[in-house]
Amino acid sequence: MNTNLQDYSHKRFNILTGEWVLVSPHRAKRPWQGQNEAISNEQRPTHDLSCYLCAGNTRINGEENPEYKDVFVFTNDFAALQTTSPVFSVNEGLFKAESEQGICKVICFSPDHSKSLADMTVEDIDKVVKTWQKEYIELGSHAMINYVQIFENKGAVMGCSNPHPHGQIWSQSTLPNEVYKKDQQQNRYYNKNKSSLLGDYLEQELKANERIIYQNDDFAVLIPFWAIWPFEAMIVPKTQKRNITELSEEESLNFADAISKITIVYDKLFECSFPYSSGIHQSPTDGQPNDHWHWHMSFYPPLLRSATVKKFMVGYEMFGSPQRDITAEQAADRLRNLL
Ligand SMILES: [Zn+2]
Repeated sequence: MNTNLQDYSHKRFNILTGEWVLVSPHRAKRPWQGQNEAISNEQRPTHDLSCYLCAGNTRINGEENPEYKDVFVFTNDFAALQTTSPVFSVNEGLFKAESEQGICKVICFSPDHSKSLADMTVEDIDKVVKTWQKEYIELGSHAMINYVQIFENKGAVMGCSNPHPHGQIWSQSTLPNEVYKKDQQQNRYYNKNKSSLLGDYLEQELKANERIIYQNDDFAVLIPFWAIWPFEAMIVPKTQKRNITELSEEESLNFADAISKITIVYDKLFECSFPYSSGIHQSPTDGQPNDHWHWHMSFYPPLLRSATVKKFMVGYEMFGSPQRDITAEQAADRLRNLL
């Protein structure tokens, strides 16, 4: 490791998006006088009558949830994308717009209102993985759907309105911005080198062994070299696969194990139910070979130095680039030591 990276301001390149992040390790010790978030460590009941995701409860549209035992999926009652949106485009001088169709679903990870992924067994998380695979295939098979975005928004600080363990799946006709950038970067690299961008990156990461938090036979959990969020992490499959449906039974379990490990160390870090947005980026469902794709899962947690101090993406980050103080290597050290 070049020690300059731990001592002096510099910028790091994100190979997946083609963008830069500013790193300021010398600032990590400055005192905090900003906003503090409220900690919520209340014990939740296993079933909450007022929760619209709990088994047997009635949702706002009048539909009743079944008495589900593990994972439950339903179409979002207030979907951001419509299947009925007509195909149209607007090209009026410099005003440009395109129609967008899609299907949005909600996935309850467990009937137990009090749990999060960190509290679930690897076998139970594996059931969530299996459901993601099923939904990716089913949603992707629609002619109008060319991309399936799986994600979770966890914690009130992330604007998540319901503490019940759940995630979402938004599927749509075109590639969203973040996916488009990664598609382009991976494609360019694959065409030039005939190998996977993320596969080659992981090889270098495993050799350096500075940002790896955990690994099993099939996955590595690491802080990416170019991480923006203080404790941002990524789960990367060790062999190139385009999407999660290409996992074997054993790989699927090992993926669940990786999710379990990272969510558990997150909760330990500041002794709280750690908030984050997580998501899986994988090949589009557009019928193309997409051989350049190497799927992965990312976690973007907002907490900076305690359960109550959150990082804000404001000022320079809105007008310039994202910026961080604690280095990726320091963050990886802290998480690794909590395993
Ligand atoms: Zn609930």
